[in-house]
Amino acid sequence: MKFSRLKRKLGGLLGLDSYYWENRPNGLYCLNFHRIGLGADTPFDPCVFSCSSEELDKHLEFIKCHFTVITLAELESLVKSHSVPDKRYMCLTFDDGYIDNYTNALPILKKHNLKASFFIATGLIGSNTAPWWDKIAFLIKRYRPASLKLSGWKEGITSSACQVNDIREILTAVKSCKHSAASQIAELEAKFSHVSGYPDAEFMHWEHLSSLLDEGMEIGAHSHNHDILTKLTDQELFYELSHSKALLEEKLACSVTAFSYPVGNKSTYNEKVIEGLRNTGYQIAFNFLPGVNASPAATPYDLHRFPVAPNMNQRALKKMFSYTGRF
Ligand SMILES: [Zn+2]
Repeated sequence: MKFSRLKRKLGGLLGLDSYYWENRPNGLYCLNFHRIGLGADTPFDPCVFSCSSEELDKHLEFIKCHFTVITLAELESLVKSHSVPDKRYMCLTFDDGYIDNYTNALPILKKHNLKASFFIATGLIGSNTAPWWDKIAFLIKRYRPASLKLSGWKEGITSSACQVNDIREILTAVKSCKHSAASQIAELEAKFSHVSGYPDAEFMHWEHLSSLLDEGMEIGAHSHNHDILTKLTDQELFYELSHSKALLEEKLACSVTAFSYPVGNKSTYNEKVIEGLRNTGYQIAFNFLPGVNASPAATPYDLHRFPVAPNMNQRALKKMFSYTGRF
């Protein structure tokens, strides 16, 4: 059992939850959201939803009370000055660029007078074509297979009583398969005799991103095609890092120096990717792993973020922040 999980279990048993919460360390805490709304309302992937609008409202109220929310620019100043945080800072981040970031999250951020940063996969902006995970979820929702096995998968998947779990399991199988997502979608389409296409994608357009900036929000890059960077050739990697930055800077007339790794677990970035970020002019980069950044200046390209999931209440948030690793 990992140390933080053991500590959490023991802390609960010994009644130490509030002790660990009150004594959580100084450092940079980051929250990461994807979609805001109800997964049941989309024809696409319900697993990308972090919380409902009502939950976001409550989360932000809680964050305001217990953390000092800072912008990416302020974080970059901390990094440049090699400062070790003397309080509990918080950065609020949103990944991918879904339209509900604008329609649902922005009004709630404004209500709380909080600034957040939005990490954009530029290839998805203004595109009507849904990304691979949304297409696969759409096919599963429409055809509801009782079981599924694609040619590159080691094992088949049998459907359960919970479609959201089935979709999550199928997407995990697709990600870990050696075949491309596009070829697995083609195989699924053939299996289901699907020829009727897909609904329009649910991403922001460039004018939405301009409005976010006008409201004082910040924009970072999340690659162009949302591919896993460690699987790319040197040339493809350079394109993903430089093209997304150049497009955002050109279309939005802003400087882009922050990046979040697509998917974001340990296998999706390495020294070569970090070197590429440095050479392309990025100052900081975020992963998708929980943890407190005790000294962001020491790990500017490996900043940890806490993922937000549906149905988390304040108690769950407190536990998540209390029982975690320091990096
Ligand atoms: Zn993403």
